[in-house]
Amino acid sequence: MTSAIEARGLGKRYLRRWALQDCSFRIPAGVVCGLVGPNGAGKSTLLQLAGRISRPTAGSLRLLGAPAEDLSGLARIAYLAQDRPLFPRFTVEETLRLGRELNPAWDQRIAERIVRSGGLDPQACVGLLSEGQRSRVALALAFGKRPDLLLLDEPMASLDPLAAHEIGGLLMAEAAEQGTTVVMSSHQVGDVAAMCDYLVTLADGRVRLAGEIDALLSAHRIVSGVHLADGPPSWLDAHTVVETRTRGRQLTALIRVEGAIPADWQAAEPDLEEILLGCLRSPGVPSLFTATARIETGIGNGTETGIGNGIEAEEDAA
Ligand code: ADP
Repeated sequence: MTSAIEARGLGKRYLRRWALQDCSFRIPAGVVCGLVGPNGAGKSTLLQLAGRISRPTAGSLRLLGAPAEDLSGLARIAYLAQDRPLFPRFTVEETLRLGRELNPAWDQRIAERIVRSGGLDPQACVGLLSEGQRSRVALALAFGKRPDLLLLDEPMASLDPLAAHEIGGLLMAEAAEQGTTVVMSSHQVGDVAAMCDYLVTLADGRVRLAGEIDALLSAHRIVSGVHLADGPPSWLDAHTVVETRTRGRQLTALIRVEGAIPADWQAAEPDLEEILLGCLRSPGVPSLFTATARIETGIGNGTETGIGNGIEAEEDAA
C-alpha cells in the first residue's frame, strides 16, 4: 500500500506548548481524508507540517514516500492555507498566469473552470474580491497545480452552500480521476461524511481516530436496553465503552464492539457525528486506528486499539 502521509512520533511545539504530540499514523494514497477536531486540536499545524510551511519539533514525516525535508517533490504537493494568501494587487487572470508559470504540471483548464463557474471577472483585482471569491481563486491555484497530494485548510469555510457543493464535487472527481490524495480540515461533519472516505480526528494535539470512515462506523454500535440494577450491565465489560447515558430505566451506550451483544438489547450503527462527539467527549477512551492508518512505532503509549479487519477492535499489545 502506498502512503500519502506517514507520521511517526510527530510533534510540533510552539514555545512551551505542544500543538501536536506523539502522532503516528498513515494516510494511504488516493483517499479523500477529512481532518477534524475541536478548535486548537492541531489540524492547521499538521497541514502546515505536511505543506512544509513549518518543521516538526519531534518525530518524522514522510510525504508521498519521501522524507518531508526532501524538497524535490515540492511540485507534487499543493497546500491551501486558511488565510488564502494571494497577491491582492494581481487580477484573477494574472494570478492564474503566475500559477501557470510556476508549476510544471499546470492545468489551465481546471483553474479557469473553477474561476468561471464562480462568475469571477478575470480582470478583477484579487484584493477587492469577497472572502468566498478569494477562496475560489485560491482553490483554482491549488487544483490547477495538479498535485498528487492536495492539502486544504478549511476549504469550504467561506463558500456559500452552492459553491461548497460544487467544490466538493470537484474534489471527489479529482480524487477519483487523477488519484489525487486530498486531506482537508473541516468543522462541518456533514461535509466530511459527504465527501471523505477516510478520517483523521485530532484532539489536544493527538490522534483519536484514524482510518476508513466505513470501518470506523462499523466498529461502533449504539446499544440500548432496559437496565434495572445500579451501574452498567456486566456484558459491557467485554467492549470498549465510549460513553453511556441513562434515562429512567433505559441505558444507552456508544461502544466499540469487541464481543457479543445480548439479543434483548437493541444495537444500531451510529453516524459519523455520533462517533466524533462520543470520542471527543471521552478523552480517556483509547484512540482507534484501522489497519491502514496504523503505524507500528514501538513507542506506543498503550492507550490505542486497532481494527484488524475493519469490524473487530482488539486491545493493542504494544
Ligand atoms: P486547529 O487548526 O485544530 O484549530 P492549530 O493547529 O491552529 O489548531 O493550533 C493548535 C495549537 O497550537 C493551539 O493551541 C494554537 O494556539 C497553537 N498555535 C498554532 N500556531 C501557533 C503559532 N504560530 N505560535 C504559537 N502557538 C500556535
